[in-house]
Amino acid sequence: MADIPAWWRGLVRRIRGWWTVTRAPGRFLCDSCRFDYGDACRRPERPNATRCDDYRPR
Ligand code: SF4
Repeated sequence: MADIPAWWRGLVRRIRGWWTVTRAPGRFLCDSCRFDYGDACRRPERPNATRCDDYRPR
């Protein structure tokens, strides 16, 4: 389990982000991201990200 390649994890993350946007069009990824609090995320696209490689669902 610890040997999951980085490219695979990135792909899964992108598919998750795509899936979230598809299921809730018009919503921003940050609304359901576990990093959307305090200083947990400093990405410039926050809080209106529609694509984000760091997205993690809550
Ligand atoms: S990691 Fe991405 S989706 Fe999550 S809060 Fe930051 S900008 Fe938004």
